[in-house]
Amino acid sequence: MSKRDYYDVLGVSRTATEDEVRKAYKKLAKKYHPDLNPDSKTAEEKFKEINEAYEILGDNEKRARYDRYGHAGTGNDFGDFNGQGDFGGFGDIFDMFFGGGGGGFGGGGGGRPAAQRGADLRLDLSISFEEAAFGVEKDVEIPRMENCDVCGGSGAEPGTSPKTCDVCGGRGQVRSTQATPFGQFQTVKTCNNCHGTGSIIEKMCRHCGGSGRLKKNRKINVKIPAGVDSNSRLRIAHEGEAGTLGGPPGDLYVYVSVRPHDTFKRENDDVIGEFPLSFVQAALGCEVEIPTLDGKVKLTIPEGTQTGTSFRLRGRGITKLRGYGRGDHHVRVKVVTPTHLTEEQKEILRDFGNLPSEEHESDSHRADKGKGFFNKVKDAFKG
Ligand SMILES: [Zn+2]
Ligand SMILES: [Zn+2]
Repeated sequence: MSKRDYYDVLGVSRTATEDEVRKAYKKLAKKYHPDLNPDSKTAEEKFKEINEAYEILGDNEKRARYDRYGHAGTGNDFGDFNGQGDFGGFGDIFDMFFGGGGGGFGGGGGGRPAAQRGADLRLDLSISFEEAAFGVEKDVEIPRMENCDVCGGSGAEPGTSPKTCDVCGGRGQVRSTQATPFGQFQTVKTCNNCHGTGSIIEKMCRHCGGSGRLKKNRKINVKIPAGVDSNSRLRIAHEGEAGTLGGPPGDLYVYVSVRPHDTFKRENDDVIGEFPLSFVQAALGCEVEIPTLDGKVKLTIPEGTQTGTSFRLRGRGITKLRGYGRGDHHVRVKVVTPTHLTEEQKEILRDFGNLPSEEHESDSHRADKGKGFFNKVKDAFKG
């Protein structure tokens, strides 16, 4: 079976301009489109032939080769144009021929952008002071665009597959050559037919409407490492929105904010706490239990401790985000001056005020006297 001359197929002369070729093609393609001639085998054949002819004559380079070498120069052994005649709704026809986008025919379709990386997503996550100190895993649910699980993101109805765009041959770009007084001038433009994707979806996936993506609420397990602080940003690769038309997914960024603790403060990897001591405890020394991130920890307060003194509990602080081990827990004691004193207590304190001044006594002497006095105080202030 010998092939007809492409110019004859489109019914144009060999000197026809680009514009004339395109117009002839559109007219014929509409006339013989399988959707408009559902039962005609001839129309289907004709439609294939027209498309093949236009693939060559609509492209300046291929046309030039065809002019010189005939069919042999096109390398086109009747590709694999899919002649199923199954083009979905009527709207698709116009999308196909007029490039949907600015075609003026409105209707569904719309422009199909080229494969693009999915958008990055931001998740603001608030965690407790303890969670920041030790790390935490959280299951969060994020709404995002995902690849349609019916068509796998291709946008084509299962069982069908997008076909290579026959205007650009799958490159997504078309080159046009213009003769100017200064010579040949070439421009490369995004293919109008496929909008740069290089393929045409003939039958849209019914599940996603051809977009290949659907909005989903996705549960994601987020691992917050121990030692994070407010204003940390974690990047979870590939957990952003799905790309379009096979583009890679974006990333998920988790912005962490740490809720303040009721009593603890944080300084880098250290925890700062306060602990109230009665003036008796401070004066005589004692053993107390200090609340820390690990629960209560015993601490010996030496006698004569002044208010504002800090004690360090090594390794009871925040896990180091970088490096090993943990920071420390610093506890600042606050000596609380008693307010509601009994008569007896007041009496004892008055006695204390009358004790000889420090200057005139040796240390050991004073200490002895002090001890005797404070034993009295201890009893009086018990409970
Ligand atoms: Zn789908
Ligand atoms: Zn194309």
